[in-house]
This record gives sequence, structure tokens and C-alpha cells, in this order.
Amino acid sequence: MVEAIDRGTCCPAQTTDASYDFSPEQKKSLQREERKRKQLQKAMHRGEKGSNRRQKKKWRIARSYEKQANIREDFNHKTSKKLVKNACVLIFEDLKTKQMTKRPKAKVDEQTGRFLPNGAKRKAGLNKAILSVGWYQLEKFTEYKAHRASKVVFKVSAYQSSQECADCGHTHPDNRKRRELFVCLGCGHRENADVNAAKVLKKRAINLIQDSGTELSQRGVLRRDTGRGANEKTQTAEAVGAHGCESSKKKVAHATGSSLL
Ligand SMILES: [Zn+2]
Repeated sequence: MVEAIDRGTCCPAQTTDASYDFSPEQKKSLQREERKRKQLQKAMHRGEKGSNRRQKKKWRIARSYEKQANIREDFNHKTSKKLVKNACVLIFEDLKTKQMTKRPKAKVDEQTGRFLPNGAKRKAGLNKAILSVGWYQLEKFTEYKAHRASKVVFKVSAYQSSQECADCGHTHPDNRKRRELFVCLGCGHRENADVNAAKVLKKRAINLIQDSGTELSQRGVLRRDTGRGANEKTQTAEAVGAHGCESSKKKVAHATGSSLL
């Protein structure tokens, strides 16, 4: 079975039929460490430089980071184990975490030479959310566990996967008015936004497999499907990274489908 994993900041991992999230206890401890660290950092800066007290605070801060990392690692190990157990082909979106978490460029007013607001604080919050979930670790753990179980992991382009309708392929930013709900302006399809994104990724992967698997299809191994949405090619199957702006244009493909389901 093919399963795609959408990674988000509200739900760390969402497949087309299951979501994986931290347990309430884990969430609590993660928040507790966050709060504790803030206090410690304040206290540390009050202390005299080079003092014993300051050093102690520093160690406690480091220990707090470590605790959080352990919780995330535990979560990623358990999640990757379940993912690999439940599917043979695993699809991740090709996220460029490093680029995604870059600091925004400073904006300078040319006349006065003053700095203008560039949303850096908001972006810093998002960066923190992205990094704190440990997306990269989940991917790496899944990769090696899959390898051990003779299963495969591959990545497809994440380009506009959150704006594309899994049912008809209509792509528009307005499809996602609220963070958690996807409502297609083309066909009215309503779904949890993460589930929709996971379905889009899965479709992209299946398109890619079918496109490159002509030898298999000629021998009749791959069946063509005429199910709902089967004739729509998703955005990227044809050109990974071709950033055209033909968003809402429907793309009808020659042969796509979900026979690998
Ligand atoms: Zn639609």
C-alpha cells in the first residue's frame, strides 16, 4: 500500500487516514520545559558573569533542551515505526526545512535609512514551530526503518500541495481559508486540510510511478482507474519545481489513477 505523510505544525504527521500527534502528557511536558527555560534564561541574565550560579542555570537550560529533544525523538521513533508497519511505499513531501526556516530579509526605507517591519517576529515563531516538531528526524527514522523492512520511502514536490484539491485538482490559495479546513472553490470538496494535502501527495507519487512505470503498464501490471478524480493530474507530477502560475487551470492527464491504492 502507498501512504503519503503530510507534516504540519498543528499535527506533526498526517496520512490519508490517520493522524499522529504527541500525547497530551508529551504536549504538557514540552510546554512545561518551554516555560521553565524562559524563567531560567531570565534568571541567568540577572546573575553575575562567570559566577557559579550562572553556570548552574546554564546547565539546567541545556538539560531542559535535552528533555524536549528526548520527547520528540521518542515520538518520532514510535510514529515512524507505525508508518512503516502500515505501508509498503511511503511518500514524504520534499520540504526544504533549511530554506523554510530562513530569517526574512531586512527591509530598509531608502529615504530615511530606517528599518521597516518585515514580519521577522512572526516568522521566528513559525520557524520555532517547524523546527520543534522535528520533521527531518521523522523522515530519517522512517527511511532507515523502511530500509530494514525492505520497504521504500520517496519524496515528491511539496509545491502548492496545501492549496490543491485532492478531488478535482483545482489549485488556489483561497481553497484554504482556515488553517484546518480545506474547501475547494472548484468542486466544493470539503476536508481536513492536512488529510487533503496527504491525498494530494499520494496522488503525485502515484502519477510519478505510473509515468515512469511504462514497462509495467505495458505488461498489464498497472491497471488504469476511472474512479472519481482519477483523470486529474496533480500539479507536479509532470515537472517537479516548474513554478508556473497556471494555478486554477485543470490539467487533464492521459493516464493517471489510483490503481495502486
Ligand atoms: Zn475540487
